[in-house]
Amino acid sequence: MSAPRRLGLADPALLRTDGYIDGSWTASESGRRFDVVNPATGEMIAAVADMGGAETGRAVAAAAAALPAWRALTAKQRSVLLRRWYELMVQNAADLGAIVTAEMGKPLVEGRGEILAGAAYVEWFAEEAKRAYGETIPTHDPAMRLVVIKQPVGVVAAITPWNFPFATIARKAAPALAAGCTVVAKPAEDTPLSALALAELAGRAGLPDGVFNVVAASDPAPVGAELTAHPAVKKISFTGSTEVGKLLMGQAAGTVKKVALELGGNAPLIVFDDADVDAAVAQAIVSKFRNGGQTCVCANRILVQAGVYDEFVDRFCAAAAALNVGPGTDPGTDIGPLINSEALDKVQRLVDAAVAGGATARLGAAVHALGGTFYETTVLTGVTGDMDIAAEEVFGPVASILRFDTDDEAVAAANDTPYGLAAYFFTKDLARAWQVGEALEYGMVAVNSGLLMTELAPFGGVKESGIGREGGREGLEEFLETKYLAMGGLDGAGR
Ligand code: ADP
Repeated sequence: MSAPRRLGLADPALLRTDGYIDGSWTASESGRRFDVVNPATGEMIAAVADMGGAETGRAVAAAAAALPAWRALTAKQRSVLLRRWYELMVQNAADLGAIVTAEMGKPLVEGRGEILAGAAYVEWFAEEAKRAYGETIPTHDPAMRLVVIKQPVGVVAAITPWNFPFATIARKAAPALAAGCTVVAKPAEDTPLSALALAELAGRAGLPDGVFNVVAASDPAPVGAELTAHPAVKKISFTGSTEVGKLLMGQAAGTVKKVALELGGNAPLIVFDDADVDAAVAQAIVSKFRNGGQTCVCANRILVQAGVYDEFVDRFCAAAAALNVGPGTDPGTDIGPLINSEALDKVQRLVDAAVAGGATARLGAAVHALGGTFYETTVLTGVTGDMDIAAEEVFGPVASILRFDTDDEAVAAANDTPYGLAAYFFTKDLARAWQVGEALEYGMVAVNSGLLMTELAPFGGVKESGIGREGGREGLEEFLETKYLAMGGLDGAGR
């Protein structure tokens, strides 16, 4: 049976396996392909054109050639095309979600949710395209007028991870295209198919050739080297590990490119004594186990105040035990497989070290009976800040629970990390909400909620979690250059 039929796609043409350069489906120069594997079954889904520096250079050249005409469109004209792209995403959400689930493993309901969340960014930036306002400045000289205009930064390279293979690209491409930039996207090697489906829909939406390109590769290094060295690329927008983000930032320094980095996190989720414990448990479950714990904003450390510690732990364990681990295609599945065997090894290493160091496994703590890369839903109590599991991003279905006594202790522990992406806390006390909200060194803080991502608000981190914001008003700014026009000779002299 062919792969599209096996995935149950209503529109099999959404499963593309070549790169997308200058509006054409393109094989690699070497003719080489790499396998994309379903993490739930180990089955090969597709063999994708394996590209390198040469193809990347061609994609950048296509994006550079397409730039003048794209940037010259009115914002409204770009907006109409983006809106059409958005509508196609929504119309095809079931198929696109099935592709995400097949290549990444998350439950179908989350796969479809990712499509709608990613599409919402495209809708938002189709609207924001029209709001790239400049400024006039009261002049210092009667013969001059001072004006600030906003212009697209130019060709943008988008390098994205496997955990949200669709939405991370939509979040970068939409504001870039809205601003008048053109894009070369490089998806993760585990999950190129969602990006290629996006390219298929870009063509159908009528985006001109070269405006949105996708280059997939089994080895990201030569592609990254070309994107960061090419003088026509003006901005690198990256989502992934802090380690690779630092590498790309260094590489981009050679041509002084702008960088936007969405990197790792080590999110604290703090439950104070006065919290609504039911709500805290429910929200902590969502925050921790969404996407199988494989998001950079998943609660990585759950800090619970002594007065509610036992109650919270009991209820949290009961709720976690009710989650079903299984293939994303099973309707009852809450948690899919981990992305690959390296991810499984890392999770097991962190759990084993924590237990050896004195933590208690209240639930799970082993490879799941399903085998493969399935891991048991796990809850560890008695975790302490000095354990690796509290310092590293776990990226798996493992909840680490720590105990604290005072607010100062909780805030100090929460901030005791090089990361600063998302933080969560639960309290009913308004003064405490402001004090803690302001004291947490994070780009995003949620009070009494385990979820915070929306296209309407700026997503991003501080410290080693990154630079720049995606979404909100700020999201468009990221792809705009500020130009100051000083207009002189306005006193009539020389007329
Ligand atoms: P993760 O740990 O989530 O897999 P990575 O940072 O390794 O995160 O991957 C995120 C993205 O960065 C992927 O698209 C991957 O292919 C890409 N990547 C990894 N190494 C490099 C590199 N040396 N140059 C460019 N891109 C890279």
